[in-house]
Amino acid sequence: MNYTVTVLPGDGIGPEVIGETIKVFESISSRYGHQFNFRTGVIGGAAIDQFGTALPDDTLQMCKDTDAVLFGAVGGPKWDHVNAAVRPEQGILAIRKGLGLYANVRPVKVYPAIINSSPIKPELLQNVDMIILRELTGGLYFGKPKKRWKTPTGKRRGVDTLKYTEEEVERIVRMGFEMARARRKRLTSTDKFNVLESSRMWREVTTEVATDYPDVELEHILADNLAMQIIQDPERFDVIVAENTFGDIISDEASVLCGSLGMLPSASLSGLTSTSTSGSPTVSLYEPIHGSAPDIAGKGIANPIGTILSGAMLLRYSFGLHEEANAIEASVEGVLAEGYRTADIASVEDTVVSTREIGDVIAGSL
Ligand code: NAD
Repeated sequence: MNYTVTVLPGDGIGPEVIGETIKVFESISSRYGHQFNFRTGVIGGAAIDQFGTALPDDTLQMCKDTDAVLFGAVGGPKWDHVNAAVRPEQGILAIRKGLGLYANVRPVKVYPAIINSSPIKPELLQNVDMIILRELTGGLYFGKPKKRWKTPTGKRRGVDTLKYTEEEVERIVRMGFEMARARRKRLTSTDKFNVLESSRMWREVTTEVATDYPDVELEHILADNLAMQIIQDPERFDVIVAENTFGDIISDEASVLCGSLGMLPSASLSGLTSTSTSGSPTVSLYEPIHGSAPDIAGKGIANPIGTILSGAMLLRYSFGLHEEANAIEASVEGVLAEGYRTADIASVEDTVVSTREIGDVIAGSL
């Protein structure tokens, strides 16, 4: 089969981790006989430098005219002025909006071989296997008004708005129920029902949707309590569905269970099927959960596994290539079991390999 993948390496370690993922795709291509046509687009800080905008129209169009998007990361100190009107992160927010990607799927799995890389006690991590489903195009990150201003007396003020429609809540929660139904049939919905009106609406809609899924056990949990329990008793979670900000924070926290931010993949989807409700094909975007890690960019030490596993998700969700996706995941597991470690997941006694070396062994062992 022939597939077109738009690749957006972005900034910092983005190009490094994307490079290793393409290597893995090439290996899949020669083993299974698929043809992947990669087209590279510019986004984030790199796009600001070249075009003065974080998401040039050409890049967005390229993403719309493709089968799937593989994304690295954007941002860095060069563009981090508090008052900057144009910011690299606007690129990723705009692409999510532009492609209608309202759901971010973040699987959290602990690999036995690196269980000691986590600061959490290994006995708490034996059976951790959860999905964090984060709402991606609404809530606090997008709600208007969103602004800063000064009062007539010169005092600074700032406002962000946490706003949801019932349709937005229903579609993400329904996706959560569908995912839970295909797994261990347990959905945890998180909110701040005790203090936020939008959360009260979120909980109400979730409870209503639950009546369509009597086989799935629904639990509501306050976001602060969830933040604690995800560390204290992570094995009990199956699928967690969360508002944009809560999901962002909780999934970074959950990465600690896996030993490093560099281990976690994600998929941003506009539905669970490859066609939208209107029947037109949807384009999904796949990216590691980490940022551009400017502190280690260019040193050749970044962990590419989160991006490589995002590539596996791309093959599974966008192309239905389950065997190929499983092969990549098995290769990652095998390489970790053989003792290969990038610096972020290495213990003192481990031999540390570079970004390129671990990419080579993962691609090679396919
Ligand atoms: P970050 O995820 O880039 O880095 C946090 C820490 O984790 C750093 O110490 C970094 O070295 C380490 N780390 C991250 N990925 C790693 C990997 N693959 N291998 C090894 N170590 C890794 O978060 P940050 O430092 O808060 O943000 C840096 C920049 O990235 C900022 O400009 C931020 O806005 C941006 N950012 C972008 C995205 C995105 O593009 N989706 C997401 C988050 C942050």
